[in-house]
Amino acid sequence: AKNMGGARCTWFDPIMDQLADADARLAADLRQAIARDELFLLYQPIVELPHGRLAGVEALLRWRHPEHGLVSPGVFIPLAERNGYIVELGRWVLEQVVRQAAEWERTYGPNAPEKVSVNISARQLREPGFPAQVAELLRESGLDPYRLVAEVTETAVLGTGEALDAVRELHALGMRVALDDFGTGQSSLSLLVDCPVKVLKVDKSFVDGVTGTSAQAVIVDGLIGITEGLRIEAVAEGVETEDQAFRLHKMGYRFAQGFHFARPMAGDDIALLLGVSVTG
Ligand code: C2E
Ligand code: CA
Ligand code: CA
Ligand code: CA
Repeated sequence: AKNMGGARCTWFDPIMDQLADADARLAADLRQAIARDELFLLYQPIVELPHGRLAGVEALLRWRHPEHGLVSPGVFIPLAERNGYIVELGRWVLEQVVRQAAEWERTYGPNAPEKVSVNISARQLREPGFPAQVAELLRESGLDPYRLVAEVTETAVLGTGEALDAVRELHALGMRVALDDFGTGQSSLSLLVDCPVKVLKVDKSFVDGVTGTSAQAVIVDGLIGITEGLRIEAVAEGVETEDQAFRLHKMGYRFAQGFHFARPMAGDDIALLLGVSVTG
């Protein structure tokens, strides 16, 4: 931020420099976070409408910074994407999630969460050898690949040919692919044709308007027809009220995720929702 339209803006610079410094410090801290055991995953239930039976979970990364406390992934994930550290971070996440999913599968068999979703960033997807890495993790863990859902954004997949190839390879491994935040990126319905999508996650910004007569409501309603026709599962994201859940159910939505049902929680607490009692 040294040049603002050619003219050097001297009073602004110190602030921009401070922000850049804070960013750099946070980025440096993040690089230590794995070794210092500051990262952990929470799992948010994805439920079946209308009764709310657990259909799956989405793994969400958390960072407990020694001074700043919990840092939002909305802050540190983009940071890690910018400096490339997301590749290492993403690998750590995948290892943890695959291990957790395999453990659930071993312990609870058919009652284990049917779908375990993990967010894959654009940068990770484009990293050469990423699908091979996933294949290796799956092989080591013995996890049924079908249980693992790769959540990717439209923008990530549309970005490059490599990303689309990677998605196809994940599909070939037997995993399911979900298009995340659907409707917010460079939306292109052709992606639903070119890309082996099994799940479409309708973004919260659309779900927010679902009880009204807004354009969002019309789109959410229309998307269910498209997904049914293509045999893609639709998940409504960010459901916060009973009214929204009811309306979505009426529209034909089978799956939903949001604070109305459950917040992200520790993996051990997910086990309590599996409807099986484990004794001894
Ligand atoms: P996302 O993939 O769209 O994940 C859903 C986000 O919505 C989560 O925020 C979740 O806590 C939040 N959410 C769920 N239900 C509700 C609701 O009813 N109301 C509201 N207001 N929010 C709800 P979170 O955990 O802060 O994650 C933010 C974003 O950070 C994620 O958005 C995802 O893009 C990214 N992220 C999180 N974990 C990972 C990860 O392991 N890898 C990558 N690459 N990205 C991640
Ligand atoms: Ca997601
Ligand atoms: Ca999302
Ligand atoms: Ca989002």
